[in-house]
Amino acid sequence: MKKVHNFTAGPCILPQEAIDKTIEALKDFKGTGLPVISISHRTKEWESVMDECRSLWRELLNIPDDYEILFLPGGASMCFLYVAMNFLEKKAAYLETGVWAKKALKEARGLGEAYAIASSADKTFSYIPKGYEIPADLDYFHITTNNTIYGTEIREDIDSPVPLIADMSSDIMSRPVDVSKYAMIYGGAQKNVGPAGVAFAIVRRDLLGKVSHYIPTMLDLRTHIDGKSMFNTPPVFAIYVMNETLKWLKGIGGVEAINKINQEKADLLYGEIDRNPLFVGTAAKEDRSIMNVCFVMAPGYEELQDEFMAFAKARGMMGIKGHRSVGGFRASIYNACPIESVQALVDCMREFEQLKK
Ligand SMILES: *Cc1c(COP(=O)(O)O)cnc(C)c1O
Repeated sequence: MKKVHNFTAGPCILPQEAIDKTIEALKDFKGTGLPVISISHRTKEWESVMDECRSLWRELLNIPDDYEILFLPGGASMCFLYVAMNFLEKKAAYLETGVWAKKALKEARGLGEAYAIASSADKTFSYIPKGYEIPADLDYFHITTNNTIYGTEIREDIDSPVPLIADMSSDIMSRPVDVSKYAMIYGGAQKNVGPAGVAFAIVRRDLLGKVSHYIPTMLDLRTHIDGKSMFNTPPVFAIYVMNETLKWLKGIGGVEAINKINQEKADLLYGEIDRNPLFVGTAAKEDRSIMNVCFVMAPGYEELQDEFMAFAKARGMMGIKGHRSVGGFRASIYNACPIESVQALVDCMREFEQLKK
């Protein structure tokens, strides 16, 4: 097989170990003689996967007992609606840091009063707004911790006087998180913890059941708590791979260990972007994401963009094209992306510089 370096934004690179274990389970799941995708989810073998996966979440993120861990259908986009349906009674505020934040806000607007407390739309979401005040009369305050498209990230757990809800689709499990500061954390699995097909949610149980409107059964988080994420048939394949991905993460030392590695990878790549006269980063330095690294050709070198793309591709760099709304390049260096791949991209940028000097 061709040696490639995978920088795809999502569905993203996964640990080879998790993929190998999944291939085995597709042939013979836990000695049943059946593939994991063709057994009843009501078997004890499957239930043990669900239990193991939940306990790995709890252990890796140190999730307190009064929080539930849910595996949900519909991806992060459906979670936008779960949030509004389950928490919005009168008024909620959103931090508008990108397209995903805007989409989350849109779902709430249909159900109550919801507004953007601050926005970085004025500069193509290249920074995280600061200096805003969170009013005490909100049902909740919503943030997107990592803005996948623009490469900005809120890397500390902020203090909020009202329930704090976070979309952590693209930086979950990349660092330790103080879960007790949040009412709910959610995201799609396919950015950092598994394949597409399942969303995760960590929810403080006592904050549910406080809205007066009707919540359709499948949108009521209590349905999925009561059903242990198996109210209806769960996406067994996606959950299986997620469980193996978390086992790998635990094996390498958990979120503390991966945080260090992630920081090293990000420093390596941003270091080269800042050093190399051909390239320039697009996100404000203090808000740079360690998961999605966005850059463009420096002023005067813009016409080299397509050439660099082809040059990098020929050297095995996959998925570095920037999102269509930003242009340029985006290297997603999620948990499973090895530092060797980041080094290969850096070498490629240096080689290109030599060629053009
Ligand atoms: C990818 C992404 C989403 C959308 O995820 P889906 O599972 O495709 O709905 C939402 N929020 C963020 C931050 C993302 O990166």
